[in-house]
This record gives sequence, structure tokens and C-alpha cells, in this order.
Amino acid sequence: MPPLDGDNLDRAREALRSTFGFDGFRGRQEDVVERVLDGKSTLAVMPTGAGKSLTYQLPAVMMPGTCIVISPLIALMHDQLRSARANGIRAATLTSADADWRETQDAFRAGELDLLYVAPERASQQGFRDMLGATPLALFAVDEAHCVSEWGHDFRPDYRQLRPLMDAFPDVPRLALTATADRQTRADVMTQLGVPEDGLVLAGFDRPNIRYAITPRDNPVRQIADLMARQPGPGIVYAQTRRKVEELAEKLAAATGRSVRPYHAGLPAETRAANQAAFVESEDMVIVATIAFGMGIDKPDVRFVAHVGVPKSIEGYYQETGRAGRDGDPSLATMFWGAADFATARQRLMELPEGRRSAERARLDALAGLVETPHCRRAVLLRHFGEDPDETCGNCDNCLDPPKVTDTTELARKLLSAVYRTGQSFGMGHLQKVLVGAEDERVRQRGHDRLSVFGIVEGEDASLLQPLGRALQARGDLVPTEHGGLSLGGAAREIIKGERKVEIIVPPKRARRRRGESTA
Ligand code: ADP
Ligand code: ZN
Repeated sequence: MPPLDGDNLDRAREALRSTFGFDGFRGRQEDVVERVLDGKSTLAVMPTGAGKSLTYQLPAVMMPGTCIVISPLIALMHDQLRSARANGIRAATLTSADADWRETQDAFRAGELDLLYVAPERASQQGFRDMLGATPLALFAVDEAHCVSEWGHDFRPDYRQLRPLMDAFPDVPRLALTATADRQTRADVMTQLGVPEDGLVLAGFDRPNIRYAITPRDNPVRQIADLMARQPGPGIVYAQTRRKVEELAEKLAAATGRSVRPYHAGLPAETRAANQAAFVESEDMVIVATIAFGMGIDKPDVRFVAHVGVPKSIEGYYQETGRAGRDGDPSLATMFWGAADFATARQRLMELPEGRRSAERARLDALAGLVETPHCRRAVLLRHFGEDPDETCGNCDNCLDPPKVTDTTELARKLLSAVYRTGQSFGMGHLQKVLVGAEDERVRQRGHDRLSVFGIVEGEDASLLQPLGRALQARGDLVPTEHGGLSLGGAAREIIKGERKVEIIVPPKRARRRRGESTA
């Protein structure tokens, strides 16, 4: 399609007012729209809520021909459809959930659609390709474009069919959109979808009103109840399993007297819908949920997002915490993590096909880096997304209260040697007993009181064993065995040989005093 004549941007601003009722573009929307109107292919990386939909809806209204929108979730497509139609845009969806296929196809063939939303699996169907050939196309918009990349956190093989489909229409520009793409994923998406190197538009990822904090977990119910007391207003608590969701919801309600409801895929659809609706309405409800909750939810006044257990990746963390404070008011994002989270995640790596492991491992390592950093959390996050932030932000736990870092190289050598000498099959509890020389039945039975590592840790060092074990597990230098023990991994051998320094954050006193309590 040839570029539009005249001053595209002036016309775009006019359409922005008349169709959407907005006074101006936000952030880098304008740059994206301009490229699209000029017929250039683009990858737009913008955080959730930045207004990505507008960057294809607006050109779709202005340009002759139909804009094909590829989107992975039927529910999201239908939301988009509703809001597009509410603005008077001629839009339709072609999904397995639609009954009006005939009408949609007729409207498309007659050139009466500005937007046609389809799922990626359509792309591989010859019938669909033939249909597209019947009418002029304005644009291919690929939503959640990170799904095309195996580096992305949500790879979907169907997305690989999009390139051949789009290549069949070489004159139609492409607009790939995503909220979450690190450098590597970004480059991959551009290659996979055929976006030229100069086609990247990257919007700011910073959410300055969100205060990030990441803390070891000792007693999640008390820790979240404390958080709720400090931060009134609606909140989301993410837990990792359905069982933990239900348990936490119940205990939090009892401990705080606040309205707390569960949300996970195992609840009846009516309960889920009711809990979600009640949450969106409410001014002080807390919802405990699996990550199934939150996509497409429009609630600007969420005051905190808490994670019990680590998210899947930095991308996931950013997306989930990003649901806090969309209204721009101060909000908290607090993660309570434990060594077991990383142990489990690293164990799952082994279940993946060989080819995917290294990408997933890199993702976990990056996440461990964020969790373990003694430096500004925001800086780590923003750097991960390719930005060049200030060294400190003044609004994260580490900036507000810089943690003490201590050199535990010697202690790490002792701990890892104990792992090795005891046959790489015991957990932290047993290892600690051996190292501090505890009088213990099981230690004696195994003959571990006769090992050279028995009782070699004394004084203050003993209290650092737990956080050190946690750090080594997060980093992958200690990895879980099938039977719940620990074995050497990562750089463990280099550490034992004294070839690598090990520093850890000294946990705040409170966390240490509560050592030994439930870490559920
Ligand atoms: P994203 O897909 O990037 O998460 P959406 O496209 O859902 O974001 O847009 C988020 C919200 O911002 C929507 O309510 C949308 O109407 C609004 N919005 C988008 N662009 C503008 C703008 N230029 N001015 C004001 N509001 C906007
Ligand atoms: Zn900071």
C-alpha cells in the first residue's frame, strides 16, 4: 500500500480526537502511528497500559483496507472488539467462539471492516490465506509478539506461521506489539516477523510510583498481613498453586478481618467471575490468585501486588507488579521468596526439551540477579528491558535501606565441601547440623560426626548459613536432587577451589530471628 498523502500526523491527530476523543498521543504512540502510516514495519515495545491498541486501531480507521490483528486470547479479542465498536470502528473477530463467521467474511470481502481480529492458528490455514487475498489489506498487527520467540517467556509455535502468511502480502506493513521483550527476545521477534533493524520503538518501562521490595519469606501470612496494615486499599497476592491460594486467602481473612477472596482456574467459572467483579468494584479487597488472574483486568487503583514465591521471569514479575498503581498513585510491589522457589524452578528445567533449557536457565539466572541484588531494583529491571536508568531510584527497598553485603567465600567453601563430603544427598537442615557440630542422632548414624567438615562453622557464621544456602540455590550453585537433597551445580567447584568470590546480602535481623519457622 502506498503511503498516505498530505501530512499524516495532522490527520492522525484529527482522527485521534474525532474517533477516540483523546487530546493527544501518549508516550511514543505518535512515533509508532507515524511509521505505520508511512508503510514501515515496526516492533513497538510498550508497557501494559501504555496504549498499544491505539497504534493500530487509529491507522486502521485512517487507511484504506482492513487491518488484520493477530491476538492469542479469545477473551482479550472480545474485549478489544467491544471497545473498538464503542468508538464506532468497524471491527469483527473470527474465532472458534464466534457464530457469525458468514457475516464477518462477507463484510470483510465487501471491504467493510477496519479491523479483523484472528487467532494465530488461522495463519496456517490455506482458506484464510485465500480469503485475505480477496480484499485490500492495510496492516498486519501482531499482538503479544514475544510469543513468536523461543527466548520469550510465552513461546507459541503457531506464531511461526505468521511470517509465511505476511510474506505472501509483501506490500502490507507489519506492526508487532509486546509489553515484554528483553534485548534478545526483541531481536528475535524482529527477525522472525521481518521487521527491519531500524523499526524498533521502545517506550519507557519505568513505573516510578511503584515501590519495589524483595524479601526472604519466613511467615507469609504474617508478612502479608503486615503489608496490608501498612498499605490500605485493594491488593493482589500471587501464590503459586491453587492449594496455596485457598490456604492463604483463608488465613489472611482470619488474620486481618479484611475481605480476602481466592481466584484460580480450579474454581467454578461463576465464582471466579463473581470474585473478579467484586474486586474490580471494591476499594479495599485483597484477592489471592494464581497468575491466571489479572490479564485484561482494568482496575487502576490496585495499591499493592505481593508475590509469595518467585514469578517465572523478570518479564512475568514486571507484568504482574505492573498491575499496581495504574492511576499513578504510590503503590507497593513486594516479593517474598524462598530457596525452595528456585530449587523447584531449576528442577523443572530438567523436564524441558534440551533445546529450551538454556533460554529458561538464563531467565531464571536473570530473576535470581534481581532477587539477590544489593543495588537498585528499578535499575536492574529497566536495564533488563534495554534502558539506561540512573544507578539509584530512591523508591525501592535497596535504595531506601541499603543492605549490608558480606564476603562469605570461606563459609561457602565449607558449606559446599559439606555437601560433597556427605554424598550430595542432604538438605540444608542436615548440612547445618553437620557444619555447626550439632549433637544429632541422624548425624551420628550416618557417621557425619567423623567427617572433616563436622563442627567447622562457629559463632556469627552459623547464622549466615541459611541465607548463604538460599543465595547459592538462587544462583544455581546448589541444585536440588530428586530426593530433596542438595548437590553441587553451577560454579560450586570453582568456589570450593577458591577460584570464585561469594558475597551475599546480610538479611535484616528480624528475618534471622524467625529462622526455623514455617517457610510454606
Ligand atoms: P496496552 O494494550 O498497551 O496495555 P491499551 O491499548 O489497553 O494498553 O490502553 C490502555 C488505556 O489507555 C485504554 O483505556 C486506552 O483507552 C487509553 N489510551 C490509549 N491511548 C491514549 C491516549 N492517547 N490518550 C488517553 N488515553 C489513551
Ligand atoms: Zn532503587
